Amino acid sequence: MLTLTTLLLGLTALPVLANDQLAYQLTEELTVEVGPRIAGSLADAKAVAWATNKFQLLGYDKVWTEQFNTPFWQRGNARLEIISPYPQSLVLTALGGSVGTDAEGITASIVMFNSLEDLMQAKREEVLGKIVFINKAMTKDKVGSQYGKVVGARSKGAVEAARLGAKAIIIRSVGTSNNRFAHTGKMTYEDNIAKIPAVAISVPDAIQLTKIIAKAPEAKLRLNMENHTQDAISHNVIAEITGSERPDEIVLIGAHLDSWDQGTGALDDGAGVGLVMATGALIKKLGQPKRTIRVVLYGNEEGGLVGARAYAAKHASELAKHVVASESDFGAGRIWQFDSKFGPQSLGFAKEIQQLLSGHGIALGPNKAFGGPDVSVLAALGVPVVSLEQDGTDYFDFHHTPNDTFDKIDPAALAQNQQAWILMTTALANSTIDLRK
Ligand SMILES: [Zn+2]
Repeated sequence: MLTLTTLLLGLTALPVLANDQLAYQLTEELTVEVGPRIAGSLADAKAVAWATNKFQLLGYDKVWTEQFNTPFWQRGNARLEIISPYPQSLVLTALGGSVGTDAEGITASIVMFNSLEDLMQAKREEVLGKIVFINKAMTKDKVGSQYGKVVGARSKGAVEAARLGAKAIIIRSVGTSNNRFAHTGKMTYEDNIAKIPAVAISVPDAIQLTKIIAKAPEAKLRLNMENHTQDAISHNVIAEITGSERPDEIVLIGAHLDSWDQGTGALDDGAGVGLVMATGALIKKLGQPKRTIRVVLYGNEEGGLVGARAYAAKHASELAKHVVASESDFGAGRIWQFDSKFGPQSLGFAKEIQQLLSGHGIALGPNKAFGGPDVSVLAALGVPVVSLEQDGTDYFDFHHTPNDTFDKIDPAALAQNQQAWILMTTALANSTIDLRK
């Protein structure tokens, strides 16, 4: 029989079940209801509205947005073909920020290098008038340590190739998947260096291209691409749980709201958004923390930390009151290590936090935390940071590809993340320790 008591029990039992999966539910909502959300786009604005509304529904004490100017880069059609001697097309993606070609496209022979460093040592006559191909493979590990060694080809390759007179650049995808899709990501230009089109090809296509070049060093390619960039605005979305005793002291936890356009930005960084939104909301249910917990959903991380720099500039006078900052932006794998970047007197407190987390299989790092891409801007300005380091073994299979979608998230792993974020953030917010010391 349905009584008031069973109804009430039902109602009180439900949120417990739901709470365990709150980060997962929020990530699902963002990726399903908004989907891909490149900075400056209509979908980006929709994500800002979604997050603002959601923070209010979750019971945050203060919610606001901070506007900044940003480029809005849009991918157009792109096609890359071998035109001789073995005509066929290659699977590519434009790199974020790349210019397009004119209507005829670029037709040229190709010159291959094994790394950005090799390109930088090349002679101008080897490169002039050609399409450069950088074929640097990336290997997998838990911490993604290869990314930093490979990503230079993506970010700086166009500048270095153009310096030597290249017409365009192709890179092997910065990623670890053997699937036939390419990984996008931000590339940059420099003033006074020609802006040449930059694309990535899938790993199987990179292997295919090396075989074509081995048989036919004079192979000719044609690239057609139609990207364009315009000026736009975006927003950081910020929400707080006000501290009960030290409201002016800020514990900042962040993630980035924007994503690349190819997938739905579930691992990068929908999961991080869900985690930090859930963390503040669930801590508040347990009672107001002593320090203020400020959740920052940064805009345009992918286009080069645009929102993070805007936040640091706007809050420059308040940075001394940022006691610590952290970010979730490495997918949705289990957390295996907690690390800090504290002053020497606070290392005992780092150990205490790790002990709270040890039941979730989380070890202590060597006080060398990075914090995350957006909060690294704050770390560079002296704000202490902490990291909950995730297992990223598979992260670069999906990173910046059409395959970064919600189905890749393991709810049990995300629940472990959520518990760790709540424990860590509560400890930081209820402490009185000056972590700079
Ligand atoms: Zn990210």
